[in-house]
Amino acid sequence: MKRTHFDEEHLAFADAFRTFAEKAIVPHFAEWERAGITPREVFEEAGRGGFLGTAVPEQYGGGGVADFRFNQALGEQVAALGITGTGLGITLHSDICLPYFLSYTTDDQKARWLPGIADGTLITAVAMTEPGAGSDLAGIRSTARKNGGEYLLNGSKTFITNGINADLVIVAARTSDDRHRGISLLVVERGMPGFERGRNLDKLGLHSQDTAELSFSEVRVPVANILGEEGAGFQMLTAKLPQERLSIALAGLAEARAAFDETLRYVGDRKAFGTSIGSFQNTKFVLAEIATELDVAQAFLDKCVDLLNSGELTAADAAKAKWWCTELQGRVMDRCLQLHGGYGYMTEYPIARRYADARVTRIYGGTTEIMKTVVAKSIGL
Ligand SMILES: Cc1cc2nc3c(=O)[nH]c(=O)nc-3n(C[C@H](O)[C@H](O)[C@H](O)COP(=O)(O)OP(=O)(O)OC[C@H]3O[C@@H](n4cnc5c(N)ncnc54)[C@H](O)[C@@H]3O)c2cc1C
Repeated sequence: MKRTHFDEEHLAFADAFRTFAEKAIVPHFAEWERAGITPREVFEEAGRGGFLGTAVPEQYGGGGVADFRFNQALGEQVAALGITGTGLGITLHSDICLPYFLSYTTDDQKARWLPGIADGTLITAVAMTEPGAGSDLAGIRSTARKNGGEYLLNGSKTFITNGINADLVIVAARTSDDRHRGISLLVVERGMPGFERGRNLDKLGLHSQDTAELSFSEVRVPVANILGEEGAGFQMLTAKLPQERLSIALAGLAEARAAFDETLRYVGDRKAFGTSIGSFQNTKFVLAEIATELDVAQAFLDKCVDLLNSGELTAADAAKAKWWCTELQGRVMDRCLQLHGGYGYMTEYPIARRYADARVTRIYGGTTEIMKTVVAKSIGL
């Protein structure tokens, strides 16, 4: 379906990122998948190209344009190029972490952190999940005890994206026992004594993405590193999670579209019973259904991006987008892999990697079940 969502400048930005990624990421991607991590220099190269901080004000070295269509356009290229693991590190940095640094920082904090976030010398992560608390965010146990001009941070986090590479980690910790109003967000910096990184976790997919355990033992975090007000952490997370969920939904749909495009080419080439796989009625129906579902979902997502830009995207809208598009992604990967036959199970075919990479999007950023509880609440249940 014809799409009028992007202007010339978004398309030019997407082209520029594609050119950059074809040179700086694609040729090395397989090696990074084997290594389990993307080198941090890639963030600096992306920063130099202007791909990380489009929303960062110009005075701090960014593009000064708060328009999420740029993030969306970049994410679509990540999917089309099949560099999902590396792309996730970049989109987590720009789509998910940056908003906290833009909305909840003082001028002094902005001056300290935003230039490095925009130029890729400061890689970011957000650490909410703990071994004992994932979906139940308010159940976290990490503590930050105020002691004069600093907080003493203790606790552990797990499954943290960019966990090995990160220089600035937004850590959710308890500053009081109040379940919701007792959570604060502290920025923990690389090298602070007592801040240790555990294993780079071995995952089913997204191999070029570092996902780590983090531990904090009497880490002295200056009060100057708190984001927003003490005790406002849960409120800030709740305010920023819709953007995180929309980012995951966009990536999910873009991945599904990329898999569809690859499969369409494959079924045209592959022969069985003296004809192309694409000529079988089943193949036509499967791909026709997918083509329809992709366009329908795209229209909803583009609308969500517009609402995010105008400050009107609700938590329920984002939850609908996330669960619907990531479930769709899962179905599409499964059906496209099936159309590849045995080759689809071989990791040298992109569909095999996309299939494995896709499984987590229904889990992180809030599971499908949690998304449905958010939607249910919005309809009074
Ligand atoms: C690769 C990867 C990267 C990640 N990156 C980050 C990151 O950067 N930062 C971060 O903080 N976290 C990150 N996470 C953590 C992720 O957000 C959590 O895994 C997710 O929120 C689910 O939490 P859990 O794993 O503890 O599962 P649990 O909460 O234990 O859930 C287990 C099952 O129970 C279901 N369930 C739980 N509660 C309910 C309920 N009320 N109603 C119905 N069903 C329910 C869930 O839907 C799920 O199916 C990442 C995870 C992965 C796998």
